[in-house]
Amino acid sequence: MLKVDLHCHSNVSDGVLAPAAVAAYARKGGVDAWALTDHDEVGGIKAARAKANELGMRFVPGVEISVTWANQTVHLVGLHVDEDNPDLLAGLAATRQGRDARGREIAAQLEQAGIPDAYEGALKYVGNPDLLSRTHFARYIVETGRCNSTPEVFRKYLSEGKPGYVPHRWAALDQAMGWIKSAGGIPVIAHPGRYRFDATAEGVLFDEFRQLGGNAIEVVTGSHTPDQYAVYAEVARRYGFLASRGTDFHAPGEARVEFDALPPLPANVTPVWHDWF
Ligand code: AMP
Ligand code: MN
Ligand code: MN
Ligand code: MN
Repeated sequence: MLKVDLHCHSNVSDGVLAPAAVAAYARKGGVDAWALTDHDEVGGIKAARAKANELGMRFVPGVEISVTWANQTVHLVGLHVDEDNPDLLAGLAATRQGRDARGREIAAQLEQAGIPDAYEGALKYVGNPDLLSRTHFARYIVETGRCNSTPEVFRKYLSEGKPGYVPHRWAALDQAMGWIKSAGGIPVIAHPGRYRFDATAEGVLFDEFRQLGGNAIEVVTGSHTPDQYAVYAEVARRYGFLASRGTDFHAPGEARVEFDALPPLPANVTPVWHDWF
């Protein structure tokens, strides 16, 4: 059976490895078909594809777009996107705008909370100056010794209600789906179990996604607990959605699940890649 991983980050967004190094790391973890899905960026796709080809790994060009839906951030993965499509490129550029200003506000809040110089500190971890992420702040706060891990940083800082949380308005769901469709791609709701919607709101999200032409969600992801694999497999069946799978890899050791440890999709769902390879 092909080992497929359709959600990963490089240092073009908030991962730590260059795109080619992520490809090599995935291959070492046994991956046969792989997508790079950097946040709001496709700048790593060409290097990732070249390395994947060299390693004999099938490649899927992807992206993970930040969306605001019902006042919360939702992530939308786009798979098989044409990374040169002008609509997609313009949409992603617009989405990235404002990350720097948000970063300065995050730093100002952290300073109030007793963590000075966080803007400069976060920048040390940035591989793409256009893509300053909360993850870069988290890595810097770990470096200062205030927390032992990035999840601990997100529990104490940077998330809603905590110091360093700056609300941000991203693209709307229909816009981001439009960019993905313009680029010939397939939109996938990333890690649905991570959002803090009640059951009603979650159902509205899935209905709206389907009305906009969406038909796939992530089921097995490093951002879900094993319990959630079963929950979202059931959701996929109920809505008739295809199912996706990926580690959501960011960095060796920082990974919630390593490439060789993520379980396969449950047997009772249809993989989003069922007719791709
Ligand atoms: P941003 O797009 O700058 O708001 O940053 C979002 C990123 O922060 C996500 O893509 C994750 O990589 C990371 N993140 C969010 N929540 C957590 C968490 N609880 N633990 C670890 N990383 C997180
Ligand atoms: Mn991330
Ligand atoms: Mn995500
Ligand atoms: Mn991700």
